[in-house]
Amino acid sequence: MTTRVRFAPSPTGYFHVGSARTALFNWLFARHTGGTYLLRIEDTDAERNREEWVDVINRCLEWLGLSPDEGPFRQSDNATQHTAAVDALIGAGRLYPCACTGDEVQARKRDNKTPGYDGYCRDRGVERGPTTALRFKVPEGTTTVHDIIRGTIEFQNAVIDDFVVAKSSGAVLYNMANVVDDRADRITHVVRGEDHISNTPKQQLIWEALSEATGEHLPLPTYAHLPLLVDAQRKKLSKRKDPVSVEDFRDEGYLADAFVNFLGLLGWSPKGDEQVDRATMIAQFDLADVNQSPAFFDVMKLRSINADYLRAMSLEDFLVAVSPWVDPEPGAWMPTAVEVPWPAERFDAERFRTIAPLVQERVTRLSEVPGMVDFLFLDEPVIDAASWAKAVTGESDAPAILDAAIAAFTSCEFTAAALHEVTLAFTEALGSKLRKVQAPIRVAVTGRSVGPPLFESMELLGRDEVLRRLSVARGAAGAGQ
Ligand code: GLU
Repeated sequence: MTTRVRFAPSPTGYFHVGSARTALFNWLFARHTGGTYLLRIEDTDAERNREEWVDVINRCLEWLGLSPDEGPFRQSDNATQHTAAVDALIGAGRLYPCACTGDEVQARKRDNKTPGYDGYCRDRGVERGPTTALRFKVPEGTTTVHDIIRGTIEFQNAVIDDFVVAKSSGAVLYNMANVVDDRADRITHVVRGEDHISNTPKQQLIWEALSEATGEHLPLPTYAHLPLLVDAQRKKLSKRKDPVSVEDFRDEGYLADAFVNFLGLLGWSPKGDEQVDRATMIAQFDLADVNQSPAFFDVMKLRSINADYLRAMSLEDFLVAVSPWVDPEPGAWMPTAVEVPWPAERFDAERFRTIAPLVQERVTRLSEVPGMVDFLFLDEPVIDAASWAKAVTGESDAPAILDAAIAAFTSCEFTAAALHEVTLAFTEALGSKLRKVQAPIRVAVTGRSVGPPLFESMELLGRDEVLRRLSVARGAAGAGQ
């Protein structure tokens, strides 16, 4: 059997990390089994859907390298089949018109304590009309769902109410449209988030009813419900508290490969090292190995994986990857809401290339890069007030250190090695420690207490500018002893 899976997002908001994980696991399963992965945009809820969210889905999948083998299809293009399926189920006596208003259903629920709909219109012989919805006549018995990850789950049909499949407007609802499309697309495996488990018995009932009504006996798909993503408090990721938009992660400077590697660990793990490329994931991936317990979306772990991927890049690849943050080409893609902190004409590609390997080793995300190198491309360094207070104005030795540095750097050869050497010499003369001596110099020159190695940074900036910045800091540092 050739496997066919689908990723079926609804375009109702930004692209959630949980959706990205679902897309990835579908893709991995298809690749591992030599099957087909298709994309179906479930866009039939006109009130909640927006075209821009469709673009976001396509853009994110492209960024992640998870574009479909078939599609994108639009659920709305399949409206004729949805209506035909509804007609077939009516013909087979599996649906009935319901004239109850929402308020009436609620009122009876309060009085009778029935969960869901109480079946009021089931046998009343209501005529189908412009104000009637269509409900599915849930049969007696049990519905057994076979889930690769969760095993066999039995649902008592008695607790599944007669759910609506089409609204009075004629609009066909999710459970119905989804099944009609899965049948039409010959889907063999439904891989999706566990929030859909309660829909599954309903969808199976529809599937089987359609097989009988149409005589087209298609085998039920096999289900795999992926574990919930949770935050550090073990609570379901919340849009309000947690970072969950894939585009935000991209804009922060996570690499697609690192992000995909991390997503792959949300409910599944490769044998051995967790850091694996796509080929290894494809080779090892099996839905049967997916865990059912909630998966911790650990941003710190994501950062550390990303840092490793950044470090492992060739310099050339790193320069290409970071260019939107430091030297964006006009018209090319740029991270949203990011402004390069220096005027474009001040950027010096050669200088950046020299410092890039040192920066590459020290950042966890590409968005950290401008803050590490801005001192090279701005007339004045951006002074971090806390670092300045600690290392310059609040450090009693700062005047003496800055004086010694100015004296030594005026005459020495201006290379990282020579700067290092003379600094060691005056550190000893001052009876101090290299780390302590570097602090005010670093803040004076770069504005911050962390950044690329100091002596290399100073060599790149050049003697005149280094001395000028040291003098400014010396002036601000006070009289000294
Ligand atoms: N449109 C549904 C969603 O976005 C699809 C669920 C499914 O994969 O069946 O949640």
